[in-house]
Amino acid sequence: MHTFVKLMKQIESSGTFSAFGKMGPIFPGLMIQNVGEISLPLSEHQAKDIVNQWFREVVKSLITIQEPNRAKHALAEIFKMLIVIENQQIANEVIASISNYKEPTNLFLIYASAVLNLIESHKSQLGDLGIFKIIAHDFLQYAQEHYSSSPIAPINLTRIGQISCTCDFCKEVNRFLPDPDRSNFCFAKVLQRDMLHIETKIKEHHLDLTIRIERQSPKFKGIISKNQHSYEQALKRFEFVEQVRRTIEEIFSLCIEVKHGKT
Ligand SMILES: [Zn+2]
Repeated sequence: MHTFVKLMKQIESSGTFSAFGKMGPIFPGLMIQNVGEISLPLSEHQAKDIVNQWFREVVKSLITIQEPNRAKHALAEIFKMLIVIENQQIANEVIASISNYKEPTNLFLIYASAVLNLIESHKSQLGDLGIFKIIAHDFLQYAQEHYSSSPIAPINLTRIGQISCTCDFCKEVNRFLPDPDRSNFCFAKVLQRDMLHIETKIKEHHLDLTIRIERQSPKFKGIISKNQHSYEQALKRFEFVEQVRRTIEEIFSLCIEVKHGKT
């Protein structure tokens, strides 16, 4: 006994020992960043901690993606992993950290697409809907904020926007834009480079105009017409967000039916 106590006194850190039988090898001092010291074999609790910590790191790097096509896939993958991990606290953390995907354009391009992707690929695997509800309710809140009603088609030929250039050509276009009665007009006998200048300005300012440049020997002419491009784009965004909204509501109502036994 004396020898044993003497041996124990030499140990300077905490550890595990067995007084009876044989133990498997234990690796001392295994530290995982933000999880702490772990022992092997892992307990279920420690294993979950490690997975959660790993997932937080993955999310941190994925949500820095800005390119919409990659971002929507990354976000869909994050959502699918959340469903598997089934941790509501982490789901709330993730939802809070994706604020950059909740601006009107990103909500349409990234968030709505990712939610739809999750529903389409996991329809029957959304679990008890706890995690899905956290995602869906957050999405619906922002959808309501940015896409509460259908955009209104222009009632006359008035178009918003002005070109920030003071040349005579741009001045003429600026007078044409708010005019409710003119749908088109023409610059006759002009230089091609002046019409290309107008074309560039239309693109730069995202104006609802198109320009057709034609040869009018020995010079050129530019025919400028109004269109409804902004309205059509807005309608497209609204309809897509609306589609995702309806799909979410279908899932919720399906869930209520199942609960009431009306399958
Ligand atoms: Zn100009």
